[in-house]
Amino acid sequence: MGLSRTMRRVGRMAEPAPRTSAHRPPGAAGLGGSVQVRHVDAGSCNGCEIEIGQAFSPVYDAERHGVRLVASPRHADVLTVTGPVTVNMAGALRKTYDAMPEPRLVVAVGDCARDCGLFAGGYGVLGPVSDVVPVDVQVSGCPPEPAAIVSALRALTGR
Ligand code: SF4
Repeated sequence: MGLSRTMRRVGRMAEPAPRTSAHRPPGAAGLGGSVQVRHVDAGSCNGCEIEIGQAFSPVYDAERHGVRLVASPRHADVLTVTGPVTVNMAGALRKTYDAMPEPRLVVAVGDCARDCGLFAGGYGVLGPVSDVVPVDVQVSGCPPEPAAIVSALRALTGR
């Protein structure tokens, strides 16, 4: 009883949205403040996936900022991609991107997605994400912290 009364009194708590208009990709304005996200692991070590999982956990709670994970690229506005793109995953990544309706945006999460990171030069590595699909937002780090991932996604929703 005490908890529900406190919740009513305090209301929704979230820090103000970052001043991101300068970094906001042009396509984000048409998304109406909420984005549906399809994720593709194009060859990561899974470290970035753990941090993305945390970004949607109750602690960081990306959903309160209008970001939601979806299972189908046909329902997605945003594609998050981790890892260097391996030869085996390049086709699947391209097909996923092609299946998304427009406007669509791509977020490269982690150093591997940006420039192949630790895996640069690997025999199975085709290249960074931008070699396969156009990238709108990059998140640095190996792995990036959940707060950085949430911040990048908030730049898309503006919330
Ligand atoms: S950026 Fe780091 S944590 Fe992410 S996939 Fe590459 S090696 Fe793993």
